[in-house]
Amino acid sequence: MPFGKVSTPVQWEEDGYTVTRTNSWSAPGDHPTGAGMKLYVKDGILEKVEGDPEHSILKGALPIRMLSLPEYVYNPDRVIYPMKRDPKKRGDNTAWERISWDEAYDMIVGKVKEYTEKFNSNSIITFVGTGREAGNWGPTISCRVFNSPNICYMQSGWSCYGPRMAVTSYVLGAPYPEVDYAAQFPDSYDDPRYTYPGCILLWGKEPLKSNPDGFWGHSLVDMMKKGTKFITVDPRLTFEAANSEFWLQPRPGTDTALAMAFLNVIINEELYDYDFVENWTFGFEEFTKRIQDMPPAKAAEICGVPEEKIIGAARFFAKSKPGAVQWGLAIDQNPNGVQLGECLIAIMAICGCIDVPGGNVMGAIDIGGLGSGYSDLDPQDKINEQIGVDEFPALVRTLQFTDPDSVLDQLESGAPFKLKMGFFTSANAIANPCNVPKRWENALNTLEFNVATDIFINPTISATCDLFLPVNTYAERDMYVATHYGAVGLWIGGIKKAITVGEAKSDVEILRTLGKKLRPELWQYDTDVEYINDQKLKTLGITMEELWEHGWWHVDYEYQKYAKGKLRADGLPGFMTPTGKIELYSTMIEAWGDDPMPYYKEPPTSPVSTPEYAAEYPLVLSTGARTWSYFHSEGRMVPKLREVEPNPLVDINPKDAKKYGIIDGDWVWLENSYGKCKMKASVQPGQKEGALAAQHGWWYPERDASAPELFGVYEVNVNNLTPYKTVGVLGFGAPYKCLMCKIYKA
Ligand code: SF4
Repeated sequence: MPFGKVSTPVQWEEDGYTVTRTNSWSAPGDHPTGAGMKLYVKDGILEKVEGDPEHSILKGALPIRMLSLPEYVYNPDRVIYPMKRDPKKRGDNTAWERISWDEAYDMIVGKVKEYTEKFNSNSIITFVGTGREAGNWGPTISCRVFNSPNICYMQSGWSCYGPRMAVTSYVLGAPYPEVDYAAQFPDSYDDPRYTYPGCILLWGKEPLKSNPDGFWGHSLVDMMKKGTKFITVDPRLTFEAANSEFWLQPRPGTDTALAMAFLNVIINEELYDYDFVENWTFGFEEFTKRIQDMPPAKAAEICGVPEEKIIGAARFFAKSKPGAVQWGLAIDQNPNGVQLGECLIAIMAICGCIDVPGGNVMGAIDIGGLGSGYSDLDPQDKINEQIGVDEFPALVRTLQFTDPDSVLDQLESGAPFKLKMGFFTSANAIANPCNVPKRWENALNTLEFNVATDIFINPTISATCDLFLPVNTYAERDMYVATHYGAVGLWIGGIKKAITVGEAKSDVEILRTLGKKLRPELWQYDTDVEYINDQKLKTLGITMEELWEHGWWHVDYEYQKYAKGKLRADGLPGFMTPTGKIELYSTMIEAWGDDPMPYYKEPPTSPVSTPEYAAEYPLVLSTGARTWSYFHSEGRMVPKLREVEPNPLVDINPKDAKKYGIIDGDWVWLENSYGKCKMKASVQPGQKEGALAAQHGWWYPERDASAPELFGVYEVNVNNLTPYKTVGVLGFGAPYKCLMCKIYKA
């Protein structure tokens, strides 16, 4: 078994401390990648945190978010007891009163039974947050505990990860293909099977800051040192861009044109992997014809990237072996993003990057991360009743989540039936993912009973919830963490409880306890570990106890699984698509009702598609700029993190700043026809001229928590400027990264 190589037990004594070896996840945030950490505890108090030098991937390096763990865990704003509030007093943060867990559970069970009997369990909706462990349990609590198929991630177009996962399932028949960073090997890069990528094409992603779903940004630096070259596509000058052979700065939202032009060069100059195309792709001929629509000169004009740079970068990538593509949120937050995803998978495929050493690795296992729980719906065909399935069947059926904009419609209209209860699993909807956030606040307040599980009272909870259940951090729980939630399972780490804080409980304990009371036939487990061993790890033949003992486990990885019949359920060679090949002509996308091949479409508002609008709102606005300190809306109350990044920033090019009379550090308003928000200007020579990059997720924990102030969330909320239901043909991708606005001094 390819377990980790560690020299200590999971807990040991050292210089008066009890030291626990663990891996990060849950909140405080990061993606399911698992930073290796040592937690030093004295007299029951977590005093310090260090990186674990034996961790196979990070080797002791730790992001600042993890190093700040004690300030997060013992933060004076943290709420560590259950609390309730009269629903009539929503918005009044002084109206909470402490209650016992028994009372809290009784309230929830009573309401769930009442709504199920009087209406239908479908009237109970679970809202999940982004990225963290709690999101992983959303389908379980919704389907296996409440028996409702209605689970919602409140971001128009499901514009985070979902579009990428959907397009890979359509075109590639597999989950997200990740850059090969040797996470699957106990000896990491030293494994003889491994090869460093020749070139990584980094498209719309900043992994050093974000440490995205199954990847540590730090690995890029490891690879750089070993000679891997980079091409970065980003309107901003990032560390990665500064260290790239080619840096392409497209106008935000025009990426699909750029990617089509890349393919035009690679195909027309016959730089592709002929054998792979011949044996493993479908529709190359039609695809070649389609891609003629976008010669580099045309893309140059659309994107504002010099033609020779497009040609040079495409040639460089195709000739660098092995190549790998790393693709980020820019794909998801664009109504034309499914087509961009099709292009990027096509680049991986025709350049021979798929499932080769140093290329893009594919999931070898699936431990049922985000998809868990649906089979426990009773009756099972309740899954066909998810909100939005009629309007956006591709999105709802592929992701098995409700369509967010359709949920907003239903909350507002009460049709076709009234939703009654909301259960928020670490979901700070108003501050973070929601488009039209004020509308969402009002809509959420149409629900009769709202429960929140979280660590802090955030703006969403203060505005809309009646019951608060305190959840614990990864320092306080037993858990596992798997790259890409287990869907591209390369590595699984053990999380070991080191401390107890107040009465906070794990998400799993909460759902187990409610499950026992509501559907006891499905919930025989007395501990979290029993549940995880049985429901998650058993199929892999490993246990939590082994993960703790060995630190982590690596998948027994094989490359080129497609050639060995290891990707298809029937055991035949090929891919899990209808044709058994990578579908450059996607029969599934065609069946869902969109064009089977990529096409370019201007953003809903842009200097080209809406010149009159652009005359009033002349700057292209990208939201969601990543920071070193924060994971989405978390962390603003942590002193160490706030010291590093004290203010919400919008990056602006010096020429634009001069034009609009703005100097570095000015407070400014960003405004368009949907709304406005206030941030600090950061004048950056590396920012594309004519485009702004604004941070997201901001609120001010130091301000008044009660309505209407709600921690200042509406003053600083960049999503005030995002529209409603301006998504792609299949429902994926809203224009969070390609809005239009004006800027002026506050
Ligand atoms: S928005 Fe990006 S960073 Fe956040 S959870 Fe989604 S994929 Fe991860």
